[in-house]
Amino acid sequence: MKESITLLGRRFEATIPEKDILAAVRRMADAIARDYEDRTPVFVGVLNGAFMFVSDFMKHYPYPCELTFVKLSSYRGLTSTGIVETLLDLPEEVEGRDVIILEDIVDTGRTLQELVHLFAGRNIKDFKIAALFYKSEIYNGEYTIDYVGMEIPDRFIVGYGLDYREQGRNLRDIYQLKKQPMINIVLFGKPGAGKGTQATFLKEKYNLQHISTGDVFRRNIKGGTDLGNLAKSYIDKGELVPDQVTIDMLKDEVEAHPDAAGFIFDGFPRTTAQAEALDHFLEGRDMKIDATIALEADDEVLVARLLERGKVSGRSDDQDESKIRNRFEEYNVKTAPLKAYYQKQGKFHGVNGIGEIPEITGRLAAVIDQL
Ligand code: AMP
Repeated sequence: MKESITLLGRRFEATIPEKDILAAVRRMADAIARDYEDRTPVFVGVLNGAFMFVSDFMKHYPYPCELTFVKLSSYRGLTSTGIVETLLDLPEEVEGRDVIILEDIVDTGRTLQELVHLFAGRNIKDFKIAALFYKSEIYNGEYTIDYVGMEIPDRFIVGYGLDYREQGRNLRDIYQLKKQPMINIVLFGKPGAGKGTQATFLKEKYNLQHISTGDVFRRNIKGGTDLGNLAKSYIDKGELVPDQVTIDMLKDEVEAHPDAAGFIFDGFPRTTAQAEALDHFLEGRDMKIDATIALEADDEVLVARLLERGKVSGRSDDQDESKIRNRFEEYNVKTAPLKAYYQKQGKFHGVNGIGEIPEITGRLAAVIDQL
């Protein structure tokens, strides 16, 4: 059993080894066998998560029995959506029978409620529920769970049939999501506002992963990758690279750092579509933006700064005033509306971007320390 695994950029830690799971499955099979020895129950496995449980359970159940499946779905990513769909309905043969539901996991009880509704009016003789994993802390208690494999704390788990966004079902052991306090910050501001400079100080101070989309593009251009060649044609004109390309690249960067204690997004998002995509992406990974901090400075100060920077950085987009003005135009049209986007979420903080570098770092830190 590996100590930890990574699925789609999230880290999971080993928590229940296969032998403990199999022992629990065997105990359940023994208990049910004692109660149903002289009957022929119909076991109903709840797909997809219960497939491994059902398989091991059936191997240990010694008496005559039948098996069928239903398929419900309520998990999307890491949190229960509350919407339970029936994807595979019940077969006829449950009428007048002893039915035992085989559920991989019972947590809030919403899926269970839907299951019970599914069987209501089906003229079931005897209806019992067996759950391999049971989160007693959050269960709403509406129905009795007749057979429990093991009680577990309210943590997101994966493996032994259970998935994280459809992956991890093939793991023999159970792993739980590594919970870590995270701070995710968007550094916002016009070109030359000092986002990159400040990010290098903040990432040290708060142990965050700095992602600068501009830097990633420039690395790709240097490396002569397809992405770099595509980006170059836009960057050279002072235009934004198309959203989808940028969004996909950003997702890859986040997923490449599963252990990060948080991220500083520098130069992303730059359009409403990017901001929406970022929110959606983070939500699906149990993450969120905590604050968007804007470094505010006057255009003429910024133009002068960029031209100075261009002399040493070698960046072609910093050396030509018309390109700089075009980047400002792109900012005003496409990026500036994000201020309202984040204000609406109560996450926008403006900071004076003029002054000595440490002084500005102090202003940013004052915002972050309050989060
Ligand atoms: P920067 O280093 O942040 O000033 O970015 C340099 C250039 O990279 C920009 O002028 C854009 O052409 C491109 N770029 C960086 N980030 C983005 C983004 N989020 N969306 C679109 N283009 C971007």
